[in-house]
Amino acid sequence: MRKDAKLNCPYYLDNAATTKMSEKCAQVMQNYACEAFYNPSAGYGLAISVAKEMATAKKSLLNKLGAAKGDIIFTGGATESNNLAILGSLRNGNWEYVFSAGEHPSVYNVALHLKQLGFIAHIIPLQVNGQVDYEALEKVLNEKTRLISVMHVSNETGAINDLVKINNLRNKYCPKALFHSDGVQAFCKLLYNLDSIGVDLYSISAHKFHGPKGVGALYVKNKQALKNIIYGGGQEGGLRSGTENMPGIMAMVAACNMAKVKENYEHVKAVRKSFLDVFINEKGVSFIETDSPFIVSVSFTGVNGETLMRVLENEVIVSTGSACSAKYAGNRILQEIGLSVERIKSSIRVSFDTEMSEDEAAQAGGIILHKYQELREKVK
Ligand code: PMP
Repeated sequence: MRKDAKLNCPYYLDNAATTKMSEKCAQVMQNYACEAFYNPSAGYGLAISVAKEMATAKKSLLNKLGAAKGDIIFTGGATESNNLAILGSLRNGNWEYVFSAGEHPSVYNVALHLKQLGFIAHIIPLQVNGQVDYEALEKVLNEKTRLISVMHVSNETGAINDLVKINNLRNKYCPKALFHSDGVQAFCKLLYNLDSIGVDLYSISAHKFHGPKGVGALYVKNKQALKNIIYGGGQEGGLRSGTENMPGIMAMVAACNMAKVKENYEHVKAVRKSFLDVFINEKGVSFIETDSPFIVSVSFTGVNGETLMRVLENEVIVSTGSACSAKYAGNRILQEIGLSVERIKSSIRVSFDTEMSEDEAAQAGGIILHKYQELREKVK
């Protein structure tokens, strides 16, 4: 248990699945639910002022994303943002769509759906370091490419794809193609600037950076390039009908404005190091070296990752992979980067956050090491 925590709760190391919402965000939600509750599309003064606040909220997000131009479309989370980005880009004709094999199910399953519908969808393999195989990507790009969708940071391994490189490939082989990236595990965690990356579409989700669940956004460089996938009253410039979730939107923007990205990044880097240092002399433990300090996939030779997760859960919460695919056997991404079945079965995902100190990370690591050694003795 966390000795110094106010709540008697276990160490939480599953921040890639979701983060705890801050009190400040809860207050903002309360305000827009119970006080400034007006529908931003209504025509009277109180509603118009809510609509103005929504417009300011969009500017804040654009600013944090480092995008001087473009728009923000509010959605019900990144699953919806990803669906809108891909399905909204579909066009009749002989077009081709390109995805990385490392995508979250909210992109990957759309790619499979496109294939079933008869579209040409290329799924590009990953390298052993978890990044997309840029050479294989380069080979499929051509003037018929309509969309490239490659995530920024992998939610399974923490691998960071080189989006600038992909943008250069796009400009070289298919300058008219749209470039989408799922930025869920990067936004408010890494320092970057969308304008210098050059993406056209970028998905984010509030609950990954201490905002509420069920709200997200899609950055759209040029709205003309996208079509709506939901029909209705024409909110969000026609791209996402439905009354905007103002409590969620305003809380998401509050969470984003509060995030001290550089400071948090440095802190989490130290936390991750402190955690991994615990395992330095334990040969049975290995991890995938990737660039985001927020996520690490660790394997424990000779024990089952799922069993380890369950025996730990009263003291340390980890996961065996993305919560969105936890119900399915195996781990598609770890398979894709070529890990053996044994190693995949013995893997857990650990994901860090700013709320944990270096000492706590070492303590949590110590508990995991101890449980691992106990389990390994039992299965011998
Ligand atoms: N993409 C990535 C990379 C994710 O990690 C997640 C959340 N697991 C999503 C998309 C889906 O986000 P949401 O929960 O907001 O639908």
